[in-house]
Amino acid sequence: MSDFILEAVKCKKCASGLLVEVNDNIVYCSSCGSGFEIINGELIPIEINFAAAALRGEGEMIYKPFWLLKTKISIAERKASGNFLKNIFGGGNDNTSGDIIFYIPAFYCPIETMKNLATQFTIKHPVASPQKYNTKLTGFAYGKEDAKKLAEFILISLEAEKSDTMKSFNYDMKFESMEILGIPFYKLPDGRFKDAVLGIEM
Ligand SMILES: [Zn+2]
Repeated sequence: MSDFILEAVKCKKCASGLLVEVNDNIVYCSSCGSGFEIINGELIPIEINFAAAALRGEGEMIYKPFWLLKTKISIAERKASGNFLKNIFGGGNDNTSGDIIFYIPAFYCPIETMKNLATQFTIKHPVASPQKYNTKLTGFAYGKEDAKKLAEFILISLEAEKSDTMKSFNYDMKFESMEILGIPFYKLPDGRFKDAVLGIEM
């Protein structure tokens, strides 16, 4: 895919030219580390950070964008098969509440891959202190509203491992903040990718 460069787009903080690929509505300034969401042609600041590679691998390393959604979840009623919430919040009480940080791919991938990456990263929460890198981050396919729906989908799928045994699950999910996290992937010789944090192939 060829890059489509909008030369008029300049970083609002340091005035560097920004590389914007066609369809990208989020841009990262590799000069100063600022992130922006493009809304009706305006650059609105958004926090963008990166995960360090934890695993060694072969091949070129590229960064793919994830949404990091900090949520507060309150469970009003829960008669389901999954133990995810019980494990993450602790205790045996079904009426409970707690914080979950969801990792939702913001780049295009098949739904099964998206679900697998989101589930593994959300459960393990492997990036405690993301940092600024001088690198390229492009390929955004999903916006904030998509990410919220996907987070909800992941929450329900984690709680209802078998949908036929989920009797009731009433919850309230509040989105406290939404940031972008660049996760390193190795480009494998066969064209697949393997992330350098958990080692998931896709
Ligand atoms: Zn800048």
